[in-house]
Amino acid sequence: MVEVWLEKLMASYNLDSINSKNSYAAQIHIKGELFENLIWWGLQSLPDEILVGMDVDPDSPHLTEVEDLFRSEQHVDGLFQSQGYQINEAHIVNRGNSFSVHHLPEDWTDDMFSSNRGSRAGRFTHWLHTHPNAPAIPSEADADAAQETPGIDMILGLRFSPEGPMPWFNDVEGTRRRLGEEAKPVKSKKSKRRKFGASKNLSVIGVAPSGHKIHEIQLIAFHKSGLAINVVLVDNEGMPYGWKDLK
Ligand SMILES: [Zn+2]
Repeated sequence: MVEVWLEKLMASYNLDSINSKNSYAAQIHIKGELFENLIWWGLQSLPDEILVGMDVDPDSPHLTEVEDLFRSEQHVDGLFQSQGYQINEAHIVNRGNSFSVHHLPEDWTDDMFSSNRGSRAGRFTHWLHTHPNAPAIPSEADADAAQETPGIDMILGLRFSPEGPMPWFNDVEGTRRRLGEEAKPVKSKKSKRRKFGASKNLSVIGVAPSGHKIHEIQLIAFHKSGLAINVVLVDNEGMPYGWKDLK
C-alpha cells in the first residue's frame, strides 16, 4: 500500500502528464509502490545520491487503454529498449556525489546481483538517480552518463528537512516536473517578519520512514538523445493513479 498523500500527488502528476503529453516523444509506466521505495531509499542514503538500476517485466506491457490516452502527437516508435513495458524492478547499484554516483564499481556485476538477477546479471535497461535537495534537472555529467543507457534515464529530485549539510540548491535552468505544488513557506500568524531560518518552515507533504519531512518531489525522464519521456505512475493493475479524472 502506497501512502495516501503520495497517491494523491501521483494522481496530480499524472494529470499534468496528460495535459502536457504532446511535449513528449514517448511514455514509460512505473509502479507507484516502486516509486515510493525510490523516495525512501533516496532519503535513507543521505547525504549521498543513489543510482538505481531498473528493469521491466516482459509480462507487464503498458495497458493499451492507458498508452492510448497518454500518446503524444510527437510519439516516436522504437525510441528505446523495452519501450511499451512497465518498470517494476529496481535495485540500488551505487551511491556517491553528483559525479561519482555515475561511476559503477568495476566488479558490480560479479557478486552483488548474481543471486537475484540470474542470467540477466548484466546491465539494467533503465536508470534513475536522486538529486537530494536539488531540482530534477540533468547536469552535464548526467547527460554524459545517459549515453550508455539502452532505455531511459530518470531523475528524482527531493526537497526535504532537516537539510543536514545540503541546503536546497535552486540555481538550475530547465523544465521542472513536480508532484503537486512547489514548496512554499507556511504563513505564521505570530510573526510577519522574515527572520533567519524562516525559509525552513516549509509546507510538509509527507514524512518518510527515515524521519525526514518532505517538502517537494520532482520527477523527470529523458532519452539519451535529449528527448523528454512522459512518466505515468500506475498501480499494481497497471492503471494510472487518478484514472477517473484523467479520461
Ligand atoms: Zn544528477
